[in-house]
Amino acid sequence: MQEEFTLKRMPTGFVLGVVIVCLSPFVLTLLGFDFGNHTQELVWSELPQLTATEQTNVLFYRLPGAFTHALLEWTAFCAALFTVLLAFSQFRMSGDVTTPIIGMALFCAGSMDAFQTLAAAHLIDDDVANQDLIPFTWVIGRIFNALIMIVGVGLFLGKGVQYRRFGTPFLLLVSLLFILLAYGIISYCAHSDILPQTQYPDNFITRPYDLIPLLLFAFAGLYLYPKFYRQQPSLFAHALIISAVPEVVVQLNMVFGSTALFDHHFNIAHFLKIVAYVVPMLGLTLDYIRTYQEQQRSAAALDELNQKLASSNAELAASNAELEQFAYIASHDLQEPLRTVTSFLQLLQSDTDTKVSQDGEKYLSFAMEGSARMKCLVEGLLDFSRLGSSQTDLQRVDSAAVVQTVLQDLEVSIRDGAAQIEVGRLPMVQADKNLLYQLLQNLLANALKYRADQSKIHIKAEWFEERWHFSVQDNGIGMEQKHHERIFQIFQRLHGQNEYSGVGIGLAMCKKIAERLGGQIWVESELGVGSTFFFSLAAVR
Ligand code: ADP
Repeated sequence: MQEEFTLKRMPTGFVLGVVIVCLSPFVLTLLGFDFGNHTQELVWSELPQLTATEQTNVLFYRLPGAFTHALLEWTAFCAALFTVLLAFSQFRMSGDVTTPIIGMALFCAGSMDAFQTLAAAHLIDDDVANQDLIPFTWVIGRIFNALIMIVGVGLFLGKGVQYRRFGTPFLLLVSLLFILLAYGIISYCAHSDILPQTQYPDNFITRPYDLIPLLLFAFAGLYLYPKFYRQQPSLFAHALIISAVPEVVVQLNMVFGSTALFDHHFNIAHFLKIVAYVVPMLGLTLDYIRTYQEQQRSAAALDELNQKLASSNAELAASNAELEQFAYIASHDLQEPLRTVTSFLQLLQSDTDTKVSQDGEKYLSFAMEGSARMKCLVEGLLDFSRLGSSQTDLQRVDSAAVVQTVLQDLEVSIRDGAAQIEVGRLPMVQADKNLLYQLLQNLLANALKYRADQSKIHIKAEWFEERWHFSVQDNGIGMEQKHHERIFQIFQRLHGQNEYSGVGIGLAMCKKIAERLGGQIWVESELGVGSTFFFSLAAVR
């Protein structure tokens, strides 16, 4: 946790730098520096004697204060604009609406500054003189700035965190509200006939209205921003806390210093206001770079993981293929010596010339049984390993027709067990006809083999979750839950040869076939009640 906070903290050098920049105007003031714009009184009577160019020059040189003001305000607006653009780019990367909403709040505050500049330069329509307009719109802009930031940040405190999940629509709605609010205030100021007095040059508090934003910024810097940072630590959130320092110093300059337009404290305040915009902008830039780096890193890690996965998959496939090849060769090559053993045992049994004791005959018949069983095992293993190497020929298959063929082939067993077979409506599926035949044949043969007295078997298919789910249900001997997975492993049987014949390969084959057809197989069963085997298949494309 501590480490998280350390990582999401602006560098100490940066914090110190901001504090020094904020304090330096005080120091420079003490050293006698003056940042005010001073112009000599205009002597109107002299104007007519001057040429047109000279007149323009005289008037032009009367405006350094206005130019400085316009430049400073415009720079602050550009920083706010850049911040909101950056906030939206980060939103695209992280999907978190917090930053763009706060960025939008900053931008709305910045647009108020832009308006103030345009109005002061008379570039937009207004009905008020600059002496009233600039100080009033300044203080309104500052209150708006502080309030909108408090609302913007406050939205995400406490339970407000839930707003984050509303995503883009919420972001757009809040942004629109902020812009409408900024526009409303701007339009009101521009068209007011009389604006209240905001400057009192002779008082200790020269701009009393500026006390309001001073308190608001102090509240934000001391309480709100730190709380927000603790809740959602980020470089941007930390930079917001730091930005409260220049904001407060700006207000101190205005409340206790500035007595006239474009004077020493007025210009310092305007300059520090830019610093207050630039600090969160830099925090956001660093956040943006970090988010980008993290994304690059996780993309690289994902790539590496994918490569590892692909190579282990290839290794697994190779070792599986090797095992299948081994099983195939072993079972194939075992057939020959097995045939020899069986035929010599048969010769021995049928040879009347060879005298065999009673015990010897018994042993001979055990040996014959053993070799017959081994033959079944070897053949089963061969079939199983052949499955791995054969091609899967996926095509449109009528599963109802396949079931009918299986039932015809199992006719003898069905008749022997007097089994009642019910077949529901079966669909066309995407499968390999031979494999589907083997799968159904194994399941139905088992349902007939592991039957109770009166065998009832129900075959049907249901469509859900974009797949066909086939089921073969019987009312046979069933099995306990603990065997439900085990029976699908090769050579796993629940009964001895003397109870039910078999080699324990059928269900392992079924599992392999279901997987090759892109589906799955599983069983639901209860001992003494019956079993239902399910397998899923894709529909026809
Ligand atoms: P085999 O039938 O040759 O033993 P299988 O792989 O087909 O091999 O089946 C494995 C085991 O699963 C069987 O030995 C049997 O115990 C159990 N089993 C399979 N199908 C059923 C069924 N329909 N009802 C009860 N048990 C079954």
